[in-house]
Amino acid sequence: MNTLPARLTDLRGIGPALASKLSRLGISIPEDLLFHLPLRYEDKTRITPIGSCLIGDNVLIEGEMAACDVAFGRRRSLLAYLSDGTGRIGLRFYHFSKAQQENLKKAGRVRAFGEIRRGASGPEIYHPEYQINPSPGVEDTLTPVYPATDGVTQTRLRSLITPLLNVVSDPTTISEITQMPGMSLAQALRVVHKPQPDDDIEALLQGSHPAQKRLAFEELLAHQASMRLLRRQISHEGAPAIDVRNSPLANRFRDNIDFTLTGSQHRVLQEIAIDLAKPLPMFRLLQGDVGSGKTIIAASSAVDVIASGFQVAIMAPTEILAEQHLLSFSQWLRPLQIEIAWLTGKVTGRTRVETLSRITSGDAQVIIGTHALFADDVIFHQLGLIVVDEQHRFGVQQRLSLREKGRGASGVPHQLIMTATPIPRTLTMTLYSDMDVSIIDELPPGRIPVSTSVMTDRRRGDIVARVDQACAAGQQVYWVCTLIEDSDDAEQQAAEETARMLSEALPRHRVALVHGRLKPQEKSDIMQRFRDHSFDVLVATTVIEVGVNVPNANLMIIDNAERLGLAQLHQLRGRVGRGHDAGFCVLLYQPPLGQTAKARLDVMRQSTDGFHIAEQDLAIRGPGDMLGERQSGDVQFRVADLIRDQDMLTDIRKRAAELTDSDCRVLIARWMKGPENLAQV
Ligand code: ADP
Ligand code: MG
Repeated sequence: MNTLPARLTDLRGIGPALASKLSRLGISIPEDLLFHLPLRYEDKTRITPIGSCLIGDNVLIEGEMAACDVAFGRRRSLLAYLSDGTGRIGLRFYHFSKAQQENLKKAGRVRAFGEIRRGASGPEIYHPEYQINPSPGVEDTLTPVYPATDGVTQTRLRSLITPLLNVVSDPTTISEITQMPGMSLAQALRVVHKPQPDDDIEALLQGSHPAQKRLAFEELLAHQASMRLLRRQISHEGAPAIDVRNSPLANRFRDNIDFTLTGSQHRVLQEIAIDLAKPLPMFRLLQGDVGSGKTIIAASSAVDVIASGFQVAIMAPTEILAEQHLLSFSQWLRPLQIEIAWLTGKVTGRTRVETLSRITSGDAQVIIGTHALFADDVIFHQLGLIVVDEQHRFGVQQRLSLREKGRGASGVPHQLIMTATPIPRTLTMTLYSDMDVSIIDELPPGRIPVSTSVMTDRRRGDIVARVDQACAAGQQVYWVCTLIEDSDDAEQQAAEETARMLSEALPRHRVALVHGRLKPQEKSDIMQRFRDHSFDVLVATTVIEVGVNVPNANLMIIDNAERLGLAQLHQLRGRVGRGHDAGFCVLLYQPPLGQTAKARLDVMRQSTDGFHIAEQDLAIRGPGDMLGERQSGDVQFRVADLIRDQDMLTDIRKRAAELTDSDCRVLIARWMKGPENLAQV
């Protein structure tokens, strides 16, 4: 029997330095390299005629160098034009050397690879890979692209993985927890890492190859296995039983609220109260559309827990969201003389020391903050409830670690996880099989649904006029720039471009820009100032996605809307129409729009119900459509796609129930230790 060595450093070419870099990718033993799966593939197996390249495609093209000059735009760049008789395309370099410029200028035939973008000169590729006077013939198979990190390049990863594939060609090397007809695990790994020319390349590109299905099956099974273990572990734990019988504090809280709870909110509060009253830890997911009123649920439950003498931690993924909670909680809880502490990474020095001591002594009854709540020196007095908002920014590991922090004499704290991500009910059971689920399925009365229109980008001029009007009327506007996910840079460029365009077109109004490359402090300052109406228009990349609340912002424009998942569009749109006025959302798309894309945007136009949208999305997107990987954003999979793999879910649940504990552990070790997902179960 062939075996994989025990340690990474036992492999040729890996020393301690590389091993430590690999660990950043969640790779700590040789087997992890095998399960470090390609994110996607580059298809350099055929040359695409320039005339038939579509924006967004990653293509290999070849043509004659038609011109090559330095372009002086806002940013100096080198722009080379390639023609092949069917069309012309620009190759643009923002960073280039004199030598590179000379070489390209002199070049005859050039072969280039990269993503087609809409550039200033028409279709362009930014920083393409290229080859001057290429040798005839193209690559004979797909090139895998792996998640990589500083100091661990694609080439390095390929060179480390390839030799291991020979080792596992002996099927006894890696244990097959689950058999699947027609495809062994070893075979599946070989196919995805090193596709051969006779493998079904189309299927691989689409993610529908049996090898991908085989691996997805195991990954989903691993996910189920971890849920099972978590659940089992928790079932041995105790938790403080919270007396929820109308304490005077809770009564005063309810009397103070200036609105009537919806039926859904009442029901959910009941469900939570029943859990809290038990001496067993609650582990409950609260799903509710944006604006459905989850915060008051958290606050009300918090009051019950505080009335029983325990502390409550409220954790949000970003400073700005945490701050929003601070505002709401202060408004509701300060009149009850409940002590609130605020802890984020920005709280430092003496303030931090004081805050920590208030937390440890129990003087602080509610602690609101960000990841900073995980810090080692945060010691709770008696933590009874943890509320985690928008959980998909936190990994399983973080959830576990906070639970451990709160461990006290009466067991571990209860947990309430809140999310606005509308996951179709059919998927909830799989994603959250470790939790009980409560759903708020109605909005507070009197909300005016956001009205949405879908428009071609060619009407940008009209839209700018509309932005002008809205601002002149004292309203604020979001303009969201989106591009595909793996190019933050391009997204940022598009946003800078748009901000500049709007500043010029709207000299009377104040335009601000926020994007992911800013420091958190800068981001939250800009958001803060937008909230204070120091700006009229906020141009943003998708960083504003979650939870910001600016009631005076009622118009949102979303660029390239067809490129986003519906769930994400819905989240974004939820930022407007939060005040008393009606909200408007304009989805701009780049024509021509395909059938599916059109149907999807129509769903957005017709519905404002997140769950309905999610179900429709599921219905429209056929299996194999990888577009919406982010849809189920709460859990990141390496190869599984919940939409594509739906048909396997029932079987997976059944098989998971039959797994032994040791099988579970093997699967978890293999699949559940991504960089942020280092669950030690
Ligand atoms: P989300 O579920 O997106 O977190 P929030 O909790 O922020 O929503 O609630 C959105 C707004 O609706 C808040 O201003 C909140 O005070 C208000 N709200 C919550 N419940 C009700 C209700 N039953 N009636 C009227 N307004 C409500
Ligand atoms: Mg919220």
